[in-house]
Amino acid sequence: MNSYVGKKYHVVTYGCQMNVHESEKIRGILHSLGMEEIDNPETADVVVFNTCCIREGAEDRAYNNVMALKKVKEKNPSKVIVVCGCMPQQKNGKYDLKKRLPFVDIIIGTHNINALAQYLIELSKTKERVYDIIEKPIATMDPDYCIRDDKTNAYVNIIYGCNKFCTYCIVPYVRGREMSRTPEEIYKEVKDLVQNHGYKYITLLGQNVNSYGKDLKEKTSFSELLKNLCKIEGDFKIKFMTSHPMDFGDDLIKVMKEEHKVAKALHLPVQSGSSRILQRMNRHYDIKHYMSIIKKIKRAVPNIALSTDIIVGFPGETEKDFNQTMKLIKKVKYDQVFAFMYSKRTGTPAATFEDQVDEDIKNIRVNKLLRLQKIIQKEQLKKFIKKRFDCLIKHINGVAVGVTDGGREIYIPNYKYNNENYFTKVKVEDIRNHKLSGVIDE
Ligand code: SF4
Repeated sequence: MNSYVGKKYHVVTYGCQMNVHESEKIRGILHSLGMEEIDNPETADVVVFNTCCIREGAEDRAYNNVMALKKVKEKNPSKVIVVCGCMPQQKNGKYDLKKRLPFVDIIIGTHNINALAQYLIELSKTKERVYDIIEKPIATMDPDYCIRDDKTNAYVNIIYGCNKFCTYCIVPYVRGREMSRTPEEIYKEVKDLVQNHGYKYITLLGQNVNSYGKDLKEKTSFSELLKNLCKIEGDFKIKFMTSHPMDFGDDLIKVMKEEHKVAKALHLPVQSGSSRILQRMNRHYDIKHYMSIIKKIKRAVPNIALSTDIIVGFPGETEKDFNQTMKLIKKVKYDQVFAFMYSKRTGTPAATFEDQVDEDIKNIRVNKLLRLQKIIQKEQLKKFIKKRFDCLIKHINGVAVGVTDGGREIYIPNYKYNNENYFTKVKVEDIRNHKLSGVIDE
């Protein structure tokens, strides 16, 4: 029996869905040691910070929250603090964690989180602090360990790492090169989640899912993987993120159109409406190419929910470039836009570009863009009227609600429900106070 049995743990997560899912695996590892989860980091015996370094804000928050436990650790030296994930993995990061966090017991990177149980056991025996950052993954984490938060949607990794090297992004430096899981492994995991655990949505995860399979011995493609997963019996749908416009082919559009089990929602980051800026970002596509995908997907899947990411104020972005981004969002009419002000990431090429944009200008631009998107979103609601959507039925505050693949809620006020969590068609009839209402229309 190990010394952690019966002890309490708490996991703090920063960053993207990949990290959220990794924390689900970390919780699984801690459970396998016989521990129980609690909500309070101050009273937990083991606290794990699963960090992110994609933006400075996330990094500062994680650092400050670890520091906040310093006094607690001084009073209770047997408390174990672990810092893992992207922050320790980056070379020459903003914080020298080894030096600045001497009270932290275990510091590991992104590639050896799967060995956390061994590190904890080693620590309990030797009482020696662990600092281990390795360059390549030991092995991918076993999904059987996962303790999942969400009972409806399950995340499934299909590819790790990224080969794209966008000039603003730290991911390829902290997550390494692309490494796909085999189709057989993924199929087995999805089948189990759907048929034995009743998940309704499976979200396939990767920094660039469209690159899936290129690195495997037996080459395959993302669209092939999707087609195969759709053969699994059950009432479920598949979402995926994140897509890269460069690798987004017509084969995928065809699968999205033809396969009922592929959700009618697409997150396709554009990052900028200016081809000149896209080139400086090393995104490998221009606006003409991006718009050709948008046109094709809208034609093939008429009610598709589109969302995107935009970086405002990338080095060298002029008023003209920014106006091209504004023009693009007016043209595409996304359901959702995630807009961020560019922030320098040490270790990336863009951080060394000399023509950085003034913070005030970035602020003005991002607010202008978000205001425009708000107007577009309001107008977009009208396009739902009289349309039918395949929705997952949920109960929210005693009312039946149909949730579309894009996450839009349609209230069904007069519907007498017996159960929830099944897919059915809902027709939108009205908009009140910016909320949609409708009826079941099978
Ligand atoms: S595609 Fe670009 S933005 Fe996305 S993870 Fe790779 S380098 Fe980063």
